[in-house]
Amino acid sequence: MNTHNPVQDILSRLEGVKSTGQNQWQARCPVHDDQHASLSVGCGKDGRALVYCQAGCSTFEIRRVLDIPWSAFFPADSTAKSPSRIVATYDYRDAAGELLFQTVRMEPKDFRQRRPDGNGGWIWELGDTPRVLYRLPELLKADPAKWIIIVEGEKDADNLTSLGLVATCNPMGAGKWHKLSDDSVLHGRRVAIIPDKDEPGRKHAQDVADRLAGKAAEV
Ligand SMILES: [Zn+2]
Repeated sequence: MNTHNPVQDILSRLEGVKSTGQNQWQARCPVHDDQHASLSVGCGKDGRALVYCQAGCSTFEIRRVLDIPWSAFFPADSTAKSPSRIVATYDYRDAAGELLFQTVRMEPKDFRQRRPDGNGGWIWELGDTPRVLYRLPELLKADPAKWIIIVEGEKDADNLTSLGLVATCNPMGAGKWHKLSDDSVLHGRRVAIIPDKDEPGRKHAQDVADRLAGKAAEV
């Protein structure tokens, strides 16, 4: 028999806990400097722990600061799907090499974007952060005589780079080239596009070729 009680377990890790009703508690948020009890803790239908910071701290951050796995939020026999986890991150940097944002690959397969909040945490949306090409600093530094290879995803770009090639992609995948803030680093350059072998991939390659036509030296 399993007696893991996620709500009690999480309450035991918090400070300033007080009960505010049946299956409801308030506590100090562990993420921000909380003078009040901003964190609501509740119990979901299947026994899972629900946490909500009124100051806006995400469950993701709360979990990270408490240093507990996602499974700690769920009863052991829960059939609920556990939230996705990060399996890879890809940095997008500005011309000076400063981190602007990341593409984050999740499992089950999903891609999300996040940007640094300036305090060691993340904001899980890009706002008006410039959408730059992947590996922009490397593109700027590359020998102008070299071909720049455009692929659909960061992993492919990394693989080609590890082979000594110059490679990039736009954030957010096929059909999103027009969201780039600026592709001028490719103007006057020799550009090769390697499409993914599917319909969106071919369409994407054609779209990129059309957008670079007359700007890149060769496509
Ligand atoms: Zn908070």
